[in-house]
Amino acid sequence: MSKKGKLIIYSGPSGVGKGTVRKELFKLDDLKLTYSISMTTRSPREGEIEGIDYFFVTKDYFEQEIKNGAFLEYAVFVGNYYGTPKKYVDELLDKGFNVMLEIEIEGAKQVMEKCPEAISIFLMPPSFDALEARIRGRRTEEEEIVQMRLNKARHELNLYDKYQYVVVNDSVEKAKEEIANIIRKVA
Ligand code: 5GP
Repeated sequence: MSKKGKLIIYSGPSGVGKGTVRKELFKLDDLKLTYSISMTTRSPREGEIEGIDYFFVTKDYFEQEIKNGAFLEYAVFVGNYYGTPKKYVDELLDKGFNVMLEIEIEGAKQVMEKCPEAISIFLMPPSFDALEARIRGRRTEEEEIVQMRLNKARHELNLYDKYQYVVVNDSVEKAKEEIANIIRKVA
């Protein structure tokens, strides 16, 4: 039987470049990385695909799944639910994959409590200005939503000390290498 995989909690404020670094990490086969597809009530952004980026569901469906105990964790982020379906994560861990959960801080805290063996990594922007430029550069959201995301980001930036590892994303290549080395060491 193969060795059980590790859960890797991976957070960072909106706009820090989590997705970009994650895509680079997934090119490294030796990490045995996979990800869990979250469920959300937010609407798809341009180019996002159902079942690949998220499972996009209604609020009623999400709340029913909460009652069913289907989530390892869930949280409300800027007015929408986001959650990690539990069954799929357990199956991947049993198959020996290291499962990366790219989740916000409230969900991350739930996983840290439920799964103390999980590894936690926080991706930090080099500065708040850099973060704001990236959030605005996306140009897909209304100003009100951008402001809410910026406020949330300011709040989240202060919570890095809840995580075991903090990596600064001043270069994608460097952040990727640092995270890869953490995973190689502990997973
Ligand atoms: P976005 O709307 O930009 O895709 O995601 C907003 C935030 O929700 C990001 O910080 C993202 O990492 C987080 N997120 C995505 N999926 C989940 C999830 O399943 N659970 C939790 N708690 N947060 C999630």
